[in-house]
Amino acid sequence: MAALRIGLTGGIGAGKSAVAALLVGHGAVLIDSDVLARDVVAPGSPGFAAVVREFGPDVVGPDGALDRAALSGIVFADAAARGRLESITHPLIAARAAELIDAAPAESVIVHDVPLLVERGLAGGYDLVVVVEAPTEQRVRRLTASRAMTEAQVRERIAAQGSDAERRAVADVVIRNDADLAELARTVDRLWQDRIEATNPAGGAI
Ligand code: ATP
Repeated sequence: MAALRIGLTGGIGAGKSAVAALLVGHGAVLIDSDVLARDVVAPGSPGFAAVVREFGPDVVGPDGALDRAALSGIVFADAAARGRLESITHPLIAARAAELIDAAPAESVIVHDVPLLVERGLAGGYDLVVVVEAPTEQRVRRLTASRAMTEAQVRERIAAQGSDAERRAVADVVIRNDADLAELARTVDRLWQDRIEATNPAGGAI
């Protein structure tokens, strides 16, 4: 049978990476959009060349890789520039993800971590859409503790993303990540047993 494709999404800091890691622990293959976004503009790649053509040599750092801070500085306040950057990177990321999904063994369970799955209308490409959510205040606390982000930056990002209601509208499964990590692990165990193993019985290795 074909691989089972899970689209994993949630607002910033909701716990997507934590859920993805737990699913990988059960044997899922992870396709991480953040990693792909870096890969498609790695030095020497066609994506790198296209970005430098569009934005000029100032977006290349002294190490020869894209200077992500310089690029973010350009596109942060300029929606048209952001659109030009995304028109280069998004098709490359989508093509690379499709390539990895096609290359996965037939019985695998594929978890694709896509932060903006709902905003980009991508839910239809998956067998199961899993949404992770946590209360805003908890997300703010977790992110200000674990990353170099201020409270204002986290709240700005949350406001710029889709809402819990919009994500719920396309979810097959909603994981509420409002307790500790041990509880999250138990929730993912149940998800694996009830919704993944049950729908993918041919996956002998699972
Ligand atoms: P992003 O959108 O930025 O990629 P994310 O949705 O992937 O975020 P995570 O990175 O999984 O979120 O979680 C954000 C932070 O909160 C991490 O430091 C993570 O370890 C922590 N965290 C996640 N879930 C819990 C939990 N249940 N209890 C305590 N800390 C948690």
